[in-house]
Amino acid sequence: MPANTPGLLIVFEGTDGTGKSTQLKLLATALEKQGFPVVSTCEPSNGKYGKQIRALFTKRNTIKPEDELELFLADRKDHVDDLIIPELKNGKIVLCDRYYLSTIAYQGAAGLDPTDILTRNNFAPTPDLAILFHVPLEIGIKRITESRREALNDFESKEYLQKVSIQFERLQLPCIQRVDATKDINSVHQNVLALVTPLLRSL
Ligand code: ADP
Ligand code: MG
Repeated sequence: MPANTPGLLIVFEGTDGTGKSTQLKLLATALEKQGFPVVSTCEPSNGKYGKQIRALFTKRNTIKPEDELELFLADRKDHVDDLIIPELKNGKIVLCDRYYLSTIAYQGAAGLDPTDILTRNNFAPTPDLAILFHVPLEIGIKRITESRREALNDFESKEYLQKVSIQFERLQLPCIQRVDATKDINSVHQNVLALVTPLLRSL
């Protein structure tokens, strides 16, 4: 029995440029075509703490890692209470672009204890599935610079993303399924569908 019955919580995780947002949209469309009720969302959320986090993208040196973690947790608490839990109770398939695995990896890479970060996310529903996308760092960075034609933000420097990537590699949780995201977009989508399809039987 999936953890979030009657709904399903599927989260998309990995470093920047791995294709999370691309794959979330493709999955949402595929599920909607099959008649499933889908809600797509992302973190940082569009709430007040999410906005404060986005404002840090170009001035991350102005905040201590501990305070930054507090902001991510406050944002998640609102997002979980206001959107994720109500939609799961409504029987929706909630697709979330980044969730607490990203907090563990990014704030873990900033020097905080990954186990402690996980514990502090106890209030957040455990995903039924966390798809962890992986590409070599150079490929991810090339994809984001080419698609946005702008400089990397403070969460995206190569040295930092190297550490984030190591944190993601170390994560071992039952909800995690790893996907090689170096393949073309449709092949990755087929891999995602193969992971999601067995969960749909319970809906
Ligand atoms: P993320 O949300 O993980 O940062 P995006 O989905 O925004 O990544 O993708 C970043 C860029 O890489 C986009 O231009 C997207 O079209 C491209 N992209 C995504 N997946 C692939 C893939 N499998 N192969 C090649 N390019 C991809
Ligand atoms: Mg994205």
